[in-house]
Amino acid sequence: MRKLENHSLKDLNTFGIDVNARDFIVIEHETDLFRWVESHGYEDIHVLGGGSNLLLTQDIDGYLLKNEIKGIEIIVEDEETVLVEVGGGENWHEFVLWAVEHGYGGIENMSLIPGTVGAAPIQNIGAYGVELKDVFEGLNAFHWEKGEEWVFTKEECGFGYRDSVFKRALRNKVFITRVYLRLTKQNHSLNTSYGAISKELTGKAVSIRSISDAVIAIRQSKLPDPKVLGNSGSFFKNVELSKETFSNLQEAFPSVPHYIMDEQTIKVPTAWLIDQCGFKGVRYGETGCYEKQPLVLVNYGHATGAEILEFSKKVQKKVQEKFNVRISPEVNIW
Ligand code: FAD
Ligand code: NAP
Repeated sequence: MRKLENHSLKDLNTFGIDVNARDFIVIEHETDLFRWVESHGYEDIHVLGGGSNLLLTQDIDGYLLKNEIKGIEIIVEDEETVLVEVGGGENWHEFVLWAVEHGYGGIENMSLIPGTVGAAPIQNIGAYGVELKDVFEGLNAFHWEKGEEWVFTKEECGFGYRDSVFKRALRNKVFITRVYLRLTKQNHSLNTSYGAISKELTGKAVSIRSISDAVIAIRQSKLPDPKVLGNSGSFFKNVELSKETFSNLQEAFPSVPHYIMDEQTIKVPTAWLIDQCGFKGVRYGETGCYEKQPLVLVNYGHATGAEILEFSKKVQKKVQEKFNVRISPEVNIW
């Protein structure tokens, strides 16, 4: 365990916002966590992973625990699958590359998502038609209110579209230490349903590795590298509408793109709504909407969290006025 006081978080969040954490504690093992909780209690705690889904609007006055619990281990193996235990502080993309290297499938579509494995269940990370819940078996977490380590089954995590119980009832109430994922040893679950992937793979063999390579290539060409241009990926979630609300929207805007999620719900890409409001590539002081993907808000170098938040509210308001649709942040605002 390492402790630092008034520690700058500029290099620890992908927006590159310069705020300080009053008490910054690096957790490298579960025993660090138990010892720390015994002496400090459960109040005023925030957990930090890779800082890639955060907008920091002020200094952090309480305790900030940085998850660096490591380890990748196969727990059980059969002919078709492996059950893998992964330390919450492992880097997600490096874990994906480990799986690809070993020929284990199921997470290749989620290549190059920044952040840690421990944060992946928080919003049930997803990309290109695959979500964490598709391979998820369970997790261990320290539950602040119960004062002990707790095992969560998949059902108890309440996964939804970029959502889980950890964004709702258990928001800021747990520290996820280890995650259990079941990966396949066969190629049978390969998913190339997204147009961008199938286009990238034209003329190539479809495999775990080629999908991962395709996703990496698409993402590198389309998304800003946080090391060059600060951002937290999609700032807003896509919109889920009921059939009735959607048909009203479609009547007014016949070209609105959409995807049917289930019998009751239709997904509308928020990027399209923002684009139609004229925000694509628009700069507003030190912040703005990225030129290739307006869903991504960027920091041109010196933005504060408050400025980005203010701009995000302008975008939200314009979308509401034009489409009568409310868009909500995916990013966690502190
Ligand atoms: P952080 O930003 O550090 O934390 C996010 C939240 O999770 C905070 O509330 C924090 O308190 C909580 N948290 C973190 N770790 C723990 C833990 N161990 N226990 C309890 N709570 C914890 N997301 C997608 O779903 N799909 C994408 O395709 C995608 N692409 C992205 C592309 C870019 C360029 C960027 C910058 C972001 C992208 N994201 C995407 C968002 C982000 O990468 C994910 O949400 C990721 O899981 C965040 O991980 P993190 O470790 O950085 O979490
Ligand atoms: P895109 O391919 O331009 O598509 C725009 C939106 O349409 C996406 O948000 C996607 O929803 C939806 N979509 C496209 N094809 C679909 C299909 N065949 N079936 C169902 N929905 C479809 O999106 P993009 O911005 O380049 O992102 C590509 C993928 O990476 C997406 O899955 C996206 O979620 C993910 N991504 C996420 C973040 C983040 O921070 N959360 C950042 C960058 C990229 P979904 O978002 O539901 O897939």
